[in-house]
Amino acid sequence: MPISPSSEHECALCGEPEVAFPAEEVNLCPKCLDKSESLFDEEMSRIELIRTLRGRDVELYDVKHPDSSADKKHCGQVIIMKAGQGFEVKICLRADALDWNSQLVDADTGFASLDNRLDALIGNVSLLIESWGGGPYYMDIFYLNKMVSTEGEI
Ligand SMILES: [Zn+2]
Repeated sequence: MPISPSSEHECALCGEPEVAFPAEEVNLCPKCLDKSESLFDEEMSRIELIRTLRGRDVELYDVKHPDSSADKKHCGQVIIMKAGQGFEVKICLRADALDWNSQLVDADTGFASLDNRLDALIGNVSLLIESWGGGPYYMDIFYLNKMVSTEGEI
């Protein structure tokens, strides 16, 4: 990708004018990028994906988060299916258990990143896709207001 003159760019968070941004697609100065990445990594490590089912071409995960208000810190499920050369991903989130749109903020300094909690979850899902060899994916994200479970035998 050609490097365009970026002298008129400024950091999207602190407004610092920077001539050289670390990466072409990033509009943050190195300092804000660093802080954002560490907040992102920290949130990724708080979101637990627990594999509950493993099939040949499909895996099912429970999503848990320490801030979830639901029973056993449960706050959703992720289904990853291998489909041809790519992946089909369904993410079902319990809307009332956790605010997935909440911005990532450093409690000590008040620094707020451009990323939210859902971005961090998608970061974790990306790692799973990578562990299956990577490829194109299609992802649906559902916010559920009510969850009803049933079981039986036919
Ligand atoms: Zn900055």
